[in-house]
Amino acid sequence: PAMLGILGGGQLGRMFAMAAKTMGYRVTVLDPDAGAPAADFADVHLCAAYNDHAALRELAETCAAITTEFENVNAESMRWLAQHVPVSPSGDCLAIAQDRIQEKAWIRKAGLATAPYLALDTVADLNHDLSPYLPGILKTARLGYDGKGQVRVQTASDARAAYADLGGQPCVLEKMLPLRCEVSAIVTRSNAHEVAVFPLAENRHRNGILDISIVPAQLAPALAEEAQRMAVRLAEALDYIGVLAVEFFVLEDGAEVALVINEIAPRPHNSGHYTIDACVTSQYQQQVRAMCGLHPGATGLLSPVVMVNLLGDSWRADGGEPNWDVLMQAPNTHLHLYGKAEARPGRKMGHYCVLAADSEAALQQAEAIKDTL
Ligand code: ATP
Ligand code: MG
Ligand code: MG
Repeated sequence: PAMLGILGGGQLGRMFAMAAKTMGYRVTVLDPDAGAPAADFADVHLCAAYNDHAALRELAETCAAITTEFENVNAESMRWLAQHVPVSPSGDCLAIAQDRIQEKAWIRKAGLATAPYLALDTVADLNHDLSPYLPGILKTARLGYDGKGQVRVQTASDARAAYADLGGQPCVLEKMLPLRCEVSAIVTRSNAHEVAVFPLAENRHRNGILDISIVPAQLAPALAEEAQRMAVRLAEALDYIGVLAVEFFVLEDGAEVALVINEIAPRPHNSGHYTIDACVTSQYQQQVRAMCGLHPGATGLLSPVVMVNLLGDSWRADGGEPNWDVLMQAPNTHLHLYGKAEARPGRKMGHYCVLAADSEAALQQAEAIKDTL
C-alpha cells in the first residue's frame, strides 16, 4: 500500500492517520515530539524538526503524497517537498494562512468581507487614524491560536501599549464586532478542482478555546448556504487543494453585512471533528482523498450532532480521568481520547459527540453529560 506523509502529529494528525489506515494506506508522521498523539497510529514516526533535512528527504523518498495538520509548519519545507512528491495544501497557501495580514488581504481580494482592520507591519503604522478600528482587538500576525497573542483595546493609547506588550511584532488591529454567533465551514477541494462542503457548525468558545460545536448550525438556510458558498469561493481564489476550514462571524441583525470571515485554517479543524461520527465522509477521509488525487466524498449529515471538547481542566490534579459513567451510558454518544500522557489546563485531551433527533436535543444531552464529568 502507498505511504502517506503528514507533517504534525497532534490530535488532528492522529485522526488523519486513523482515517488513512482505514482506507488502506500506510502513514509516516513527522513530529519532533516523541509522544505525539499521531505516533500511535503511524507506521513510521520521524521524530525530528519540521525543517530537518534528513527527515524531509526520507518523506520525499518514501511517501506517495504529503499533507500537514499543523499550520505553523515551515512553508519552506512544504515547498521543498513539493519538488519531489505531491504536497497539499501548497506551501504558498500555508504561508498565507500563517500570517493574518496576508490572510485578510486574500479574503478581501476574493471579494469577501472581513472585519474592518488595519495591518500594523511596523510601529509606524500606529500613526494612522485608529478610530475606525476601535474598540478593537490587537492580534499578532503570526502564531496566535486559542485567543493567545490577542489584546482587547478601547483607545488608541491602549493599542500602542498593547502593540509594545506583544513585542512590537507585526499585528492587525481589528474592529470588535457585535456577534450573533460564530460558525465554520469546512471545504474540500481536489486537484481536479471538485469541491465539497460540510454542513455548517455553530461554534461556542470558552476562555478563547472552542468549547462546543452544534450541527446543523441554528441559522437561516439562506445564510448557511451563503457561508458555504463563501468558503468555496475563498478556496478557489487561493487555488487551494486539500481541506480548508473557514471561520465566520455572524453579525447581529441590522448589521450591514451579515457574514464576515474571521480566519482560515489550512487543515481539518476542531469544529469538524463531528464529521467522524455524523457524516458520510469525515474531514480526515477528505484530507486523504484530496492529497491522493481522489474525488471528495459526500458530505451529507447522517444525524444532528453536538461535539464537546474535553480539556485537561476536566482531569483530576493527580492526572485521574473524568468520570465517564454517565457518558458511557448515554445513547448515541461517542468518546474520542487523544492518548496524551499529561493533562494540563486548556490542553485538548479529547472530545465527545452526541447524536440526537435534532441539534437542540443533542445540545441538552451534551451539556447534561458535561456536568457529570
Ligand atoms: P483559533 O484557536 O480559532 O485559531 P485565534 O487565536 O486565531 O483562534 P480568533 O479566531 O481570531 O483567534 O479569535 C478568537 C475569538 O475571539 C473568536 O472566535 C471570537 O470569539 C473573538 N473575536 C475575535 N475577533 C473578533 C472581532 N473582531 N469581534 C468580536 N469578537 C472577536
Ligand atoms: Mg486562528
Ligand atoms: Mg479562530
